[in-house]
Amino acid sequence: MLYSMPQSEHGSSHPLPYGPIYDVPKPLKNTDDVLHVMPESVIEIRDLGVGRFGMVSLAATVGLSFKDIRLGENDDKHRSLLVAIKKLSPDGGKNLRDSFEKEIKYMARLHHPNVVHLLGVCMVGTPFIMMEYMENGDLNEFLQKQNLVDDGVSLLQENEISPLVLLYMTVQIASGMRYLASQRVVHRDIATRNCLVGHDFVVKISDFGMSRKLYESFYYRVHGKLILPIRWMAYESFYGKFSVKSDVWAFGITMWEIHTLARYEPYHELIDEELIADAMKGDRRQRPARPAIVPDAIYDVMLRCWVHDPFMRGDFEEVYSRLFLAYTRMCQQCS
Ligand code: AMP
Repeated sequence: MLYSMPQSEHGSSHPLPYGPIYDVPKPLKNTDDVLHVMPESVIEIRDLGVGRFGMVSLAATVGLSFKDIRLGENDDKHRSLLVAIKKLSPDGGKNLRDSFEKEIKYMARLHHPNVVHLLGVCMVGTPFIMMEYMENGDLNEFLQKQNLVDDGVSLLQENEISPLVLLYMTVQIASGMRYLASQRVVHRDIATRNCLVGHDFVVKISDFGMSRKLYESFYYRVHGKLILPIRWMAYESFYGKFSVKSDVWAFGITMWEIHTLARYEPYHELIDEELIADAMKGDRRQRPARPAIVPDAIYDVMLRCWVHDPFMRGDFEEVYSRLFLAYTRMCQQCS
C-alpha cells in the first residue's frame, strides 16, 4: 500500500470479518464489445470541464445514426447528436491509460436510466470516451446554484428547487446504486460531484474512478499520492475495505449533501486530521446532523446508511424502497 493503514483495536488492519459482503464483480466486458468510432465521428463544440483523464468536451456526432450508437432503430446518418467526450490526456502515462480502459470496461456493461450511458469509444489518435451529454453538469455545482423554495405550491422558476425535487433526485441515485449493487459493482466514490444532471432534474451516476482535479479539496492525500474521499468514507474504508456497504455509507453522505444544497462539505467543522481521529472512534464517531428541511423519515434512512457495522447497515434495496415510499407520500401531500 502507499500509505500505512490505521491499526484496528485488535491490532489488525482488517477490523472485522468482511468476507461475504465483499462481492467478486462480474467479469468486465472487453472494449471490443463497445462501438468504436473515429476521431472524425465527432466535432468538438466547447469544453465542459476537466476530469482525471483530461479535458471533457461537448461535441456533435457526424455520420452516426441512432442505430449506430444503440439509442434506437433510426439509421439516418444525417442526424447529429450532442455528446460528451472524455479525452485521455497524452501525458498521463501507462497508469492513466489503464484506468481509462478500466472505466470503459465498467461503463460498457452498465445499462440503467440513472447511470451515465457509454455511447462509444475512440482508441486512435487522442483516445476518447463518448457519453450521453448531461446538460446541467455535475450535481454538486448544480445544487450550489439552486435556491430552495419550500411553500409546496409555487411552480419552480429558473434555479429554484423544492424538497420534493431534492427527494426525487435522491431516489434516482438510490435506484442507480441499487442497480450497481445488483451488478456487484462497487463505485467507491459516490458523492454529488460524481453525479450528473440532465434535463428536468434527471440524475445519473458517473465517474467510476477516484479523484478529480476540480474537487481536489474533497480528497485526503496520503504521502502526496493516494487520495481518499475521507468525508464520504465508512469506518472500514479507512482500513482499505470498500464494498457495496461502504457505498451505502457514502450514499448517506450524498443524501446529506443534496439536502444541504451542497452548501457545506460534510463535517465542515472538522479539519481532515480531526475528521480521521473522529472516524477512528468507530461506532461512537459523529454523524452529520439532520439538515433543517429533512423530515425524520428521511433522516432515518441516512442513519441506516451510517450504521457502523456493515452487516447491520442498510442495503440499497432497503434504502431505495424507503426513499421511494417517502417520495410517493410527499407527492401525495403536494397534490
Ligand atoms: P469527469 O471526468 O467525469 O470528472 O468530468 C469532469 C467535468 O466534466 C464534470 O465535472 C462535468 O462538469 C463535466 N462532464 C463530465 N461528463 C459529462 C457529461 N456526460 N455531460 C456533461 N458534462 C459532463
